[in-house]
Amino acid sequence: MAEQEWQPHSRCEGCDKPIWSTDAYLSCEDCDLCAGCAPTYADMAADPAAFAHPTTGKPLTVKEVRSIIDRHISAGGSPNDSLATKNEGSLAPMPTMSEQELLDGLTATGAIPHTPA
Ligand SMILES: [Zn+2]
Repeated sequence: MAEQEWQPHSRCEGCDKPIWSTDAYLSCEDCDLCAGCAPTYADMAADPAAFAHPTTGKPLTVKEVRSIIDRHISAGGSPNDSLATKNEGSLAPMPTMSEQELLDGLTATGAIPHTPA
């Protein structure tokens, strides 16, 4: 059991880097993306249908994406911020619960907009 604590949570689908449970990452349908590879809020705005709503499982609408981004920006964020979120151990101020819950459940469907820096 002790060994398992040192296993990475998973590996990044984009760069194959190990993702630890304390890292920020974005969960996709069958993979995870590290903070460097995860799409940004701007990517989500550009292609809302590439993301599924955590509750309904349906592709996000432009209206839902706008609401997510508006909340992120009013909390002091930038559209260029990664969608990757930390599940624990984060020192950053927590976003509003609704945004955090939404992002925790956010899954990407199909092709993920990905622009390497
Ligand atoms: Zn990566």
